[in-house]
Amino acid sequence: MSENKLSEHIFKKGKFITPWNSLLGDVTKNQSWCLNRFPEYLWLSLILYKYGRKKGLEKSYFVLKKLHEISGELKAPAFSLVLGLNEAKQNELFSYVVEIMDSNVFTPLTLLYTYSENRVFSKYFTDMTMHPSKRQEILTKVLEKGYMHQSEFATDIRFLVLFFTLLTGTYGLPKQELDLILEYPKLEHSDEKMRIIRPSIRSMEMMVLNLEILDVTFLENFWGRISKMSDCKLFFMKWPENNEDANRYVELLYEVFQYYTNCFIAVNPLDKKTLVLLGLGTYSYKRIIEIYEHNLYNSIAARSSIRTVIENYIMMKYLIKAEESQDDIWEKYQMYGIGLYKVVVARFRDAEKELPDSHVDYKYLEMLVNEMIDERYLDMDTSYFDKQNIRDKAISVGQKELFGLYYDYDSSFEHGLWGAIRESSLLKCDSPAHQYHCVPDYENKQNLKSVWPDCISTMNSTIKLLNEFFALPESLFNEVMKFDK
Ligand SMILES: [Zn+2]
Repeated sequence: MSENKLSEHIFKKGKFITPWNSLLGDVTKNQSWCLNRFPEYLWLSLILYKYGRKKGLEKSYFVLKKLHEISGELKAPAFSLVLGLNEAKQNELFSYVVEIMDSNVFTPLTLLYTYSENRVFSKYFTDMTMHPSKRQEILTKVLEKGYMHQSEFATDIRFLVLFFTLLTGTYGLPKQELDLILEYPKLEHSDEKMRIIRPSIRSMEMMVLNLEILDVTFLENFWGRISKMSDCKLFFMKWPENNEDANRYVELLYEVFQYYTNCFIAVNPLDKKTLVLLGLGTYSYKRIIEIYEHNLYNSIAARSSIRTVIENYIMMKYLIKAEESQDDIWEKYQMYGIGLYKVVVARFRDAEKELPDSHVDYKYLEMLVNEMIDERYLDMDTSYFDKQNIRDKAISVGQKELFGLYYDYDSSFEHGLWGAIRESSLLKCDSPAHQYHCVPDYENKQNLKSVWPDCISTMNSTIKLLNEFFALPESLFNEVMKFDK
């Protein structure tokens, strides 16, 4: 890649940031437009906004021609450059503007460019009959219309910039491209031809970038002032709990696990396979009733719960499959888990200082470890349960989709990855004047889509699987299955 030109750098918060990532190409392009260039051309946007496209382009044409006559050395019709002209030149330009247009055309900008700093501009365009809230409303609307660099409105503005640059003679264009430019103002946006012309206009306007001097102070002042003019317009999602059938479903789950437990105790209380499968199923059941009892349907915690229910289901299928080749798989699974507890217990023992109170009760863990760990298990190979392999396990038992579509998404919440943070903990401000920024949701307004339908479908898959080994009474089984829509 060739060295980046200064003009390709983005200005943000007083620093230049290199467009570092081609993946962000379009975002970068838009930021360069809306943050750095659009503020300079907002004055032209106001003409288009007030007079509409056809008449607006025509009036802009005369204003830009005049600007070029007055100051032939200007390379771009940037507002910072216009305000930088000496007073005589500004007088000449603005008196011409009020001759051919309504003098309140630029009045909204007097909110940002006041008498103390911009005397000539302010003298021509301050209009007390236009209420400040009206001026602000117009600025916001214009910002909204032109914010996206590929919008029709933005393309019209970019056409004007390009047109001015051509007046300066800095560029000679091939006739073919020149013809396109001449045709642009005459055609409606709905015209088929415009689908080809608009992208050409935009890419030609990009050339102008190379000429432009980035006026950091101007941009900083612009965004600083315009963002202070209005409050955040935060929006957030309020999802329903989607749990109308929860009472009945939970009642049925209770019956299912009560039935299984009674059978287990009566028939084969020492069978490891039954214990492991029922243990996994019961753990899923407990994660689900936690959601139910504490109304966690739309919470972050529930994403962690459903992720576990999915993982338990995959693990059950995996163990059943693995049993075909290793009949001690049930024991290995238990030893692997208790082995992990054993490591923690050892660390607690090794810690030399007194540890503060926490949710880990190492004395209790030690007891659980001792309940199971036996000399003969020490050399047991437990590598089948490596956490990293959950994806492979899912694929091997035909649950690639469950893993790929749901588990991976929930993992983002578990690991605090940005997608989850953005979705759950940040609100979007719907104001172009604030550059559509994000704001922390400290008031806890945002919730998430309910996990309840996934709880039912994954739990039903789990019960279906258990039912293959330990049949439930048919009527109970059928009633539970009805919930899965
Ligand atoms: Zn805001």
